[in-house]
Amino acid sequence: MTADEKIVLARFLDRAGDYLRDGYARDRPDYTFGNDTPVLTEPPSGPNSPSEDFSSLPLAYQVDEDTEEKETLEDIAIAVEKCRACSLGATRTLSVPGEGVQNPRIMVIGEGPGADEDAAGRPFVGKAGQLLDRMLDSIGLSRDKNCYIANVVKCRPPGNRDPEPGEIAACFPYLEQQITLLAPRIILCVGRVASQSLLKTGKGINAMRGDFFEYKTGETVIPVLCTYHPSAILRDESLKRPAWEDLKLLKSRLLSLLDTGR
Ligand code: SF4
Ligand code: URA
Repeated sequence: MTADEKIVLARFLDRAGDYLRDGYARDRPDYTFGNDTPVLTEPPSGPNSPSEDFSSLPLAYQVDEDTEEKETLEDIAIAVEKCRACSLGATRTLSVPGEGVQNPRIMVIGEGPGADEDAAGRPFVGKAGQLLDRMLDSIGLSRDKNCYIANVVKCRPPGNRDPEPGEIAACFPYLEQQITLLAPRIILCVGRVASQSLLKTGKGINAMRGDFFEYKTGETVIPVLCTYHPSAILRDESLKRPAWEDLKLLKSRLLSLLDTGR
């Protein structure tokens, strides 16, 4: 069975299950994935990771999903769609696993789906998403060509509240698997929640932005840059300038990694 057929079958079974349980059915748009080019394997390098300790996030929910390594992004999307490892799975409309190319130069990590993303099943499609697309475009990046965009939690927190530590912990394995599969040259965390969750730190976004950290997956060390969330920039114009400085830093680091063949 092909990966596409598996997705169709999994969706059918999932909907059939919903329907049998509570007579509930709804339309779900297809997920978008990028091209079929191979995943990068060579490790990039970076400066030191944050030394600050952050006590590990509590696991507030019993995780009953399968913890096997997922082999493809589609496998992750299927697992996310079925997941009820935290209570967000029960209140969301569509899950939002992420989208972009499979061998991205940059992986952007946000906080979690908002109302627009929850309705579309795609990350960063509302006002903040449009600004994110413009920010990426200003340095030659896009989700269609060379980026992958995902969130720390794959289901919308009701009322756009911050995801809780237990929800972040329950969902984190999906993000880890995505990072490992995608092996991006650089990770860009937008906003405090994404930055703190990925780097396991309690530092604020003002302290973290403007410098590179490291994320380790197996033998691979991926440089991480943190910047302001586009919705924060929409609320506060004065954040535009420092965010632009961060984007320039991202571009020059990426160019030097590509130059040195890493
Ligand atoms: Fe599962 Fe993550 Fe959705 Fe919670 S937010 S139900 S952990 S996919
Ligand atoms: N904000 C996020 O952090 N993620 C999205 O996908 C949309 C808005």
